[in-house]
Amino acid sequence: MKKLSELRSQLDRCSKCGNCQAVCPLYLETKREPLVARGKVFLLDNLIEGRVGWSRRMEEVISLCLLCRTCEVNCPNGVQVARLVLAARAELALARGLSIWKKTAFHYLLTSSGNLNLLARLLYLYQRSGLQSVARKSGLLQALPWGLEDKERLLPMVGRRAFARTVPPVMEAPGEKRRVGYFYGCMTNHAYPGIGQAFLTVMQANGVTVVLPPQVCCGLPALASGDREAVVKLAKRNIGWFRAAGVDRVVVDCASCGSMLKEYGELMGTREAGEFSQKVRDVAEFLTEEVDIRPGAYPVEMTVTYHDPCHLKRYQGIHRAPRELLHAVPGLALREMEGADRCCGSAGSFNLTHCRLSMRVGSHKTRNILATGAEAVVTGCPACRLQLAKGLEQGGSAVPVVHTLEILSRSYLGGKEMG
Ligand code: SF4
Ligand code: SF4
Repeated sequence: MKKLSELRSQLDRCSKCGNCQAVCPLYLETKREPLVARGKVFLLDNLIEGRVGWSRRMEEVISLCLLCRTCEVNCPNGVQVARLVLAARAELALARGLSIWKKTAFHYLLTSSGNLNLLARLLYLYQRSGLQSVARKSGLLQALPWGLEDKERLLPMVGRRAFARTVPPVMEAPGEKRRVGYFYGCMTNHAYPGIGQAFLTVMQANGVTVVLPPQVCCGLPALASGDREAVVKLAKRNIGWFRAAGVDRVVVDCASCGSMLKEYGELMGTREAGEFSQKVRDVAEFLTEEVDIRPGAYPVEMTVTYHDPCHLKRYQGIHRAPRELLHAVPGLALREMEGADRCCGSAGSFNLTHCRLSMRVGSHKTRNILATGAEAVVTGCPACRLQLAKGLEQGGSAVPVVHTLEILSRSYLGGKEMG
């Protein structure tokens, strides 16, 4: 993992052309020059040269980035803005230390599936016992500090039991053709177990045996907050468990987790981490490139639109594969929206730290979705799914958001409603 000072050449590449201004979702929302890539490059250059220090303003500017890489793909000089911002956040975390909340989350909660299960259980009780509606109606949440009311509304509805606790550690496929490890991630495990079930259905239908080794968070929230020590801790555990499972592929249904797992090798610089990253495939990538996928028997008669997650399109270069899968589903019509690859505003935990700005970014996506008249939105990232669903809900729409796998699963099983 490179330090900010080692990325000096990235700063020198910026010609101040301003192309990034036209595309940065945060600049378009705020019109603040320091938030656009050019502004960040200018400030980081001053920081490295010692002309400015870690002021509050500097901290704020560095926290205000979606890491969406939209600026990077429109930059004529290839400035790697996300890499610069991540290095700056790591430096800031070392200089100032992380809050007690973040430290607890990254080092005690996310490193232990048992602790995360316990938290999910408490959240489940809060959401289903009636406490949540009392807290909302009584005005208690509005009285709490730190914008907790907004944050609370963005929490996903958690399931009664974690997905991983409802399935055996190995799901043998009849007439096995392949055997893969499944990294299901925290969101599928706790908020969207239906995605996990759909993963298993699709793999079974295509002769792929699925091994579910123990696992912890991929580390992306810690990386985005500058806590590289926590990332290494999490990565070592995941690498060890998947190695012990003896699988030659690690298949992921979450764009954010997938891009993180693919970066373990570069971040850690060890042979073991590099070998692990080589094995990682997004599920759409795996199904289109490595499986002779069997078409579903049941038509899915509906019109959908597809949202490209930043971590799938710009981080992993995957945008045709999910569309290929959808086009192959009998009865399904795909209607493209304007700005399908525009960031939805979720950006890891950005929607929790900057709720209102994140929803403003997402409001464009909501409008574009609704303009298609589609009956559902499909995406390949559970975090985007949550953000898109909240945006649609705020916009008064009941259009469901589903994962590509859930559409495929329905074409294999027939019947059930989605979303
Ligand atoms: S597009 Fe690239 S080179 Fe141009 S101002 Fe933005 S970061 Fe600098
Ligand atoms: S990564 Fe996204 S949010 Fe950050 S500066 Fe670039 S375009 Fe703006």
